[in-house]
Amino acid sequence: MEKYLEKRSNPKLLSIIIPCYNEEKVLPFLKDRLMQFLRRLGLKVEIIFVNDGSRDNTIFQLVEWANSDPSIQVLSLSRNFGHQIAVTAGMDYASGDAIVIMDADLQDPPEIIIEMLAKYREGYDVVYGQRLTRTGETLFKKWTAWIFYRIMKILVHKDLPLDTGDFRLISRRCVNALNGLRENHRFLRGMNAWIGFPQTPVFYNRDPRIAGETKYPLKKMLSLAVNAAVSFSPIPLRFSLALGFFIAFIGFLVGIYALFRAFQHFILQTPIVYNPGWATIVTLICLIGGSILISIGILGEYVARIFEETKGRPLYIVEFAKGKNVQRKKVQ
Ligand code: UDP
Ligand code: MG
Repeated sequence: MEKYLEKRSNPKLLSIIIPCYNEEKVLPFLKDRLMQFLRRLGLKVEIIFVNDGSRDNTIFQLVEWANSDPSIQVLSLSRNFGHQIAVTAGMDYASGDAIVIMDADLQDPPEIIIEMLAKYREGYDVVYGQRLTRTGETLFKKWTAWIFYRIMKILVHKDLPLDTGDFRLISRRCVNALNGLRENHRFLRGMNAWIGFPQTPVFYNRDPRIAGETKYPLKKMLSLAVNAAVSFSPIPLRFSLALGFFIAFIGFLVGIYALFRAFQHFILQTPIVYNPGWATIVTLICLIGGSILISIGILGEYVARIFEETKGRPLYIVEFAKGKNVQRKKVQ
C-alpha cells in the first residue's frame, strides 16, 4: 500500500544523537570523520553526545570538545543506563526538525545521512539504515544477529525491518510520538515500528568498529532480546496455554486408547497390553497437568492485559491532520 507522503525541505536543524559508553579510544576518530562530513553537509547541525556513565576518559574529551565547538551538546547520565535509554535521553533533549541516531564507533558511516536526508525530503518520517554486510564482526555475532532479527519480526511487529539497528533518521513529528512512549523496558526499533509512520530503508555496508571493543556483550544482547520479546508480545505468556492444551489432549488420546483396548479385552477376550492402572494414571496426570497449565495460561492473558495498560501508551498516534477544525482541536 502506498503511503501518503508530503515533500518537504531539509531540516532547519538536524540533531545527531550519539550514545557513548567508554568510548575514549573511538572519540578522536569520530571527531575527525564527523567534522569532515559536516563541512560537506552544509546543514545546521547539533550533535548530542549522551555519556552513558562511562568510567574512562570519555566525558573529559566530550566536555573539552563542547567547550571549543558550540554545536556540540553533552548530556551526561549519572550512571550506565544502557544504550536504549541513553538514546531516549538524547531524543528528549534534541531540538532538531529531524534527528539521526548513530553509534560512536563509526560502524554507522555518517556519510549515509546524506541519503537519509534525500528520503526525508521525499516525505518519509523514518529512514533506517539496513545492513547489507557486516565486516569485522565475529561469525557468532553475525549469526546471533541474523536469528535475533528474524525472531523479533515474528514477536515484535510485522513492520519491523530485518537487519536494521538503531542507525536511522527520524522526523520531528515521529520523535514527538516516540517521546510519548515512556515504558521502562525499551526496544526503540520495535516502538518505532509500532508508531507506524512512513518508513523506508537506505542500504549500507556496516564497517568494523574503529577502535576499542563492543559494549554489547552477549549478556546485554540477550537482555535486549528478552526485552523486545516480552515487552511487545504476549506470545511467551501464551506458551503455557498452548502447552496445557497439548498435554491435556495427549491425556485425552491415552484415555481413548485405553477405553478401546478395554473394549477389545472384554468383547474379543484379547489380552490387556498394558499393566492395569497405567491408563488411569497417565490420563489423570495429563488431564490434571494440562488443566493447571491452562489455568496459568488464562492468568497469563490477564497479566498481559495489565502489562499493556501499565505501559500507558497512547491509544493512537495522529500522523497529520488536514482541515482547520481538526487542526485546532488537540485531543489530550
Ligand atoms: N552504548 C551505550 N551504553 C551501553 C552500551 C553501549 O551508550 O550500555 C553505546 C556505545 O558507546 C556505542 C553504541 O551504544 O556508541 C553501540 O554499542 P557497540 O558499538 O558496543 O555495540 P555493537 O555495535 O557491538 O552491537
Ligand atoms: Mg558497534
